[in-house]
Amino acid sequence: EAKAAGRGVYRQFECAMQNEAENRMRLEHDLRLALPLKQFRLHYQPLIDSHTQEVRGFEALIRWQHPVRGFVSPADFVPLAEEIGLIHEIGEWVASTAIKDCAQWPASISVAVNISPIQLLSPGLPAMISDALSRAKLPANRLELEVTESVFLRDSNGSLDVLRRLRALGVRIALDDFGTGYSSLGYLNRTIFNTLKIDGSFVRGASVRSETVSIIQAIVTLANCFQMTIIAEGVETQEDYRLMVELGCHQIQGYLFGRPVPFDRATEMVGTRWSEARRLASV
Ligand code: C2E
Ligand code: MG
Ligand code: MG
Ligand code: MG
Repeated sequence: EAKAAGRGVYRQFECAMQNEAENRMRLEHDLRLALPLKQFRLHYQPLIDSHTQEVRGFEALIRWQHPVRGFVSPADFVPLAEEIGLIHEIGEWVASTAIKDCAQWPASISVAVNISPIQLLSPGLPAMISDALSRAKLPANRLELEVTESVFLRDSNGSLDVLRRLRALGVRIALDDFGTGYSSLGYLNRTIFNTLKIDGSFVRGASVRSETVSIIQAIVTLANCFQMTIIAEGVETQEDYRLMVELGCHQIQGYLFGRPVPFDRATEMVGTRWSEARRLASV
């Protein structure tokens, strides 16, 4: 009897495994079609200048509108795209679209694009970026590429070489999600990174966590020594906003100023102050 029950449980387990494998295979199949079927969109989230409170630029964030599943989060499909090598094509679409869009904004506005560590393994990345910039006639310094510390985990020599070649083009490089994962002060290399983005997990609620304030203070001091631009991510409240400005963050990004929105809505935010930008984003 116990054996029969065991078999039942095992069969359930087997079914769950099979469902998961099938689900993954279907997702993989759909993901391969998403680019040709034009199911990707870019949304833009404003980066606000701490002093002038004006929009300085936008971070481009990919969105997948699946015909049946609806919105699929990049957190769910980017890792899969990396695994099956599709991230190179998707990344090329993201970069060229963001560059083309940015070329339509005033010269004071820049665009930030997330680059997967897998893309940095490709020696052809700098040429792809340089071609996209020339096609759109966008000056290289209006593009910032965001990478995470995980680039230091695999083939760091090759990846660092690609980053140096990107910087030689005049493109800016940001270290994203700083403070999570393997954060090491050794990563704050000024010859590679122009910008440091403090991860939202540190920023959120910092105004009520004194130990976090000390950590951010230390990060800001170091980044200033290296003349890096400091951006606080994930600012959702007035309190956290005021604190980040007080601590010396140069730019602020977060739901307080606006969620990621389509190109047209982002364009409406250009030239407005953040309070107006927020009003636009919330309608
Ligand atoms: P990320 O680069 O750190 O982007 C910031 C994420 O935080 C975005 O999530 C953004 O919508 C979210 N966010 C912004 N402000 C707030 C806030 O105030 N509160 C909270 N709770 N969240 C906030 P999203 O768009 O879901 O993207 C998640 C991650 O997926 C990104 O993290 C990035 O690592 C990756 N990703 C997104 N687009 C791309 C892309 O085009 N290429 C690559 N390789 N990765 C991408
Ligand atoms: Mg980012
Ligand atoms: Mg980030
Ligand atoms: Mg993040």
